[in-house]
Amino acid sequence: MADHCLFCRIVRKEIPAQIVAETEDCVAFRDINPQAPLHVLVIPREHVASLNEATDPALVGRLALAAADIAKREGVAESGYRTVINTNADAGQTVFHVHLHLLGGRRFSWPPG
Ligand code: AMP
Ligand code: ZN
Repeated sequence: MADHCLFCRIVRKEIPAQIVAETEDCVAFRDINPQAPLHVLVIPREHVASLNEATDPALVGRLALAAADIAKREGVAESGYRTVINTNADAGQTVFHVHLHLLGGRRFSWPPG
């Protein structure tokens, strides 16, 4: 299953991506269909299909702190940014390797659509 997972293939560098950060546990790359001037996906190297399957409490912490680092580096930390994890159909999850969206560079509405 992880063999054919799109994001596992990005982790293994079998598919090109615009990687912006790599740590021992996480990889971050630009979204192919950006919804904001800054749109980065932060993923664990390990295959976890969605937040429902996550068991390591540090996993989400690592994704969130990696996103905060990238937000600072990309210059949106002060103006603001949004972090989102979509889970399953109602949230519109389309890639089943858990990922945190980091969106910035414009104003976002709340509540989300
Ligand atoms: P989600 O709808 O939360 O599952 O988000 C999946 C995201 O992955 C979408 O924003 C897509 O644009 C993005 N995406 C799909 N394929 C790629 C790819 N090859 N490289 C970068 N981002 C991708
Ligand atoms: Zn995967």
